[in-house]
Amino acid sequence: RTRFAPSPTGFLHIGSVRTALYNYLFAKKNNGIFVLRIEDTDQERSTKEYEADILAGMKWLGLDWDEGPEKGGEYGPYRQSERKGIYRRYLEKLIDEGYAYYCFCDKKELEAKKNYQISQGMVAKYDGKCAGLNKEQAAEKISQGIPYVIRFRVPEEKISFEDLIRGKVEFDCSLFGDMVIATSLDSPLYNFAVVIDDYEMKITHIIRGEDHIPNTPKQILIQRALGFPRTEFAHMPMILGPDKSKLSKRHNAEPVNYYYKNGYLPEAINNFIVFLGWNPGNEREVFSKEELIKEFSLERCRKSGAIFNIQKLDWFNGVYIRNMNPEELANASLPYLIATNLISKDGDNYLNRNKEKIDFAYIEKAVLLYRERLIKLSELPELVDFLFVGDIAYPKETLLWKSMSFEDAQTALRESERLIKEIPDDTFSFSKIESKFSEYFANPNASITNRGYLLWPLRVSLTGKKASCGPFEAADALGKKRTLDRIGQAIQKISQEI
Ligand code: GLU
Repeated sequence: RTRFAPSPTGFLHIGSVRTALYNYLFAKKNNGIFVLRIEDTDQERSTKEYEADILAGMKWLGLDWDEGPEKGGEYGPYRQSERKGIYRRYLEKLIDEGYAYYCFCDKKELEAKKNYQISQGMVAKYDGKCAGLNKEQAAEKISQGIPYVIRFRVPEEKISFEDLIRGKVEFDCSLFGDMVIATSLDSPLYNFAVVIDDYEMKITHIIRGEDHIPNTPKQILIQRALGFPRTEFAHMPMILGPDKSKLSKRHNAEPVNYYYKNGYLPEAINNFIVFLGWNPGNEREVFSKEELIKEFSLERCRKSGAIFNIQKLDWFNGVYIRNMNPEELANASLPYLIATNLISKDGDNYLNRNKEKIDFAYIEKAVLLYRERLIKLSELPELVDFLFVGDIAYPKETLLWKSMSFEDAQTALRESERLIKEIPDDTFSFSKIESKFSEYFANPNASITNRGYLLWPLRVSLTGKKASCGPFEAADALGKKRTLDRIGQAIQKISQEI
């Protein structure tokens, strides 16, 4: 039983996806259970909006949890804010049994002591002033309304654990001082709440970032005091930018919703993320989620920092786009075409920008034009817009190939118009158009011999763009009628210049 335990104090970040993914894969590989727990003890910084974003991100990535918010489960509730009664019981138990005590030291006093300790080159830690208060003395102070915290008595000993990724890790707890585990009976802090939840939710393996290593001995001490079995721990290496500095926006490391908006595929993200700390032991790079479930193991996770390189994610995204069939690609692209108003939906029908009905097959053809060179789906609307509007707008100069005059362009367009017209309506297709033009160029008597001369104005008349797919692909996607309309419009457009 593993868990992903995000705090909803921000959007689901790409860096956290690795924690979720490794816990998910490890659980699935071992026929285990993957739990999602929302750690919202910090009520000031936690919001419902962030929680919703985390759940949506997890679903989008296909990291479905077996127990957690929305799903429920035997060991809920799965939000810490709803578990206060449980924490209270364990806090009282620790206090009763002497493992924890009320501390009434005021903040300023503690701060002054700490500064003194530092100035003397000593270890800065709580001096244990309240550790000796008996129950009556504590109760007396509480009844006087003196603010308190609850401290856990940290024994002066060494604690070690066998990390599943890093091997043996040891801490000298005499450096810690008695730690605050709650600011009141109803306000537990992270290190305490997490131990209670992991026990109550029967978590067996805790897989998380190495920034949590210093918390582990503290959590082990609390587990021990409460007589809980020790969980296994695996701490993953830090994720760094290509410049080896801490991962940040500078490296294009963003919340998951950014990657969604920018046309990345969840499969590509998972495949990219899994390599940040793990490898299969061979050169293979592309793995489906099912394959990862089979292959993943903590033994193959490394200790040293993992490098986040957005170019690698782009590469994976391209690979996954090219692996899609036309229907999959059209379905994946639709949200982007709809968001940019190229397509709208009317019941079950798709409409173009002119509100004319279009077939799904038309959308498939459109996206297919760019499948081989696309990196992100968000690039698509700008490339295929010419297929979803009635008229296209572009400067007439764009029709001119190199030093061509408007007159030349008009001659070329008329020639293309004639050739297109000659192709029968019912066989109008890419290959027919291509062979028609090949025949033309093969003919020694052709009036235009330079391909660019003929094809550039044709392509621009159809797409309105300096750079686009080829003219035959564009004509094929547009269909014969619209192709001829657009050529006609281009001829019209430049006629005043002649
Ligand atoms: N809520 C903690 C975090 O977001 C979870 C840490 C843990 O896995 O124990 O970092």
